[in-house]
Amino acid sequence: MKRGDGLILVNTGGGKGKTTAALGIALRATGYDLHGVMIQFIKGSWFYGEKKSFENLNPNFKLITHGKGFVGIIDDKLPFEEHKKIAQEAVEIAKKEVQNKKNDIVILDEINYAAHGKLISVKDILDIIKIKNKSLDLILTGNYAHSSVIALADTVTEMKEIKHAYNKGKLAKIGIDF
Ligand code: ATP
Ligand code: MG
Repeated sequence: MKRGDGLILVNTGGGKGKTTAALGIALRATGYDLHGVMIQFIKGSWFYGEKKSFENLNPNFKLITHGKGFVGIIDDKLPFEEHKKIAQEAVEIAKKEVQNKKNDIVILDEINYAAHGKLISVKDILDIIKIKNKSLDLILTGNYAHSSVIALADTVTEMKEIKHAYNKGKLAKIGIDF
């Protein structure tokens, strides 16, 4: 299918919806039988509904989880260096996937946040952008997207929190938040 030059999309900001919007594109794209992959930085070791949904969605759109949960929160017993090593491995996987001719779309979930938290460098993201196939659409999610990444992107959306149930003490909900 001829789809023209690839786009770079960034979903950033402090409000909810960065990952779910990217999942929405994956859902939409599989309707055209497009091929792709979502690589989850950071959150990999936890269960998310999408892990199961991707199995049912279409074998052409894969989910690769390669992280060990958020860094520095209460149940995080992993040394920072270990988080860094795993994030670096995810960067290497991403580099392969953006050059894989089979892929139409690659989603790098939480990669902006991984760079902000110094698990990876901003240069890692710029390198991925530089080497990606020309026709590949690349979606980068996570808060605190770096200005140099924003500068290179075609479509940048900032999710702005107006309200979040969490602030009323309502914890993350199955099917809504994970
Ligand atoms: P989602 O996966 O729901 O689209 P997100 O990708 O925009 O959220 P993340 O920073 O990845 O945001 O959020 C991880 C988890 O925290 C998700 O369960 C999400 O629903 C929740 N969350 C997102 N934004 C907020 C917020 N402003 N306050 C509290 N919790 C949030
Ligand atoms: Mg997210």
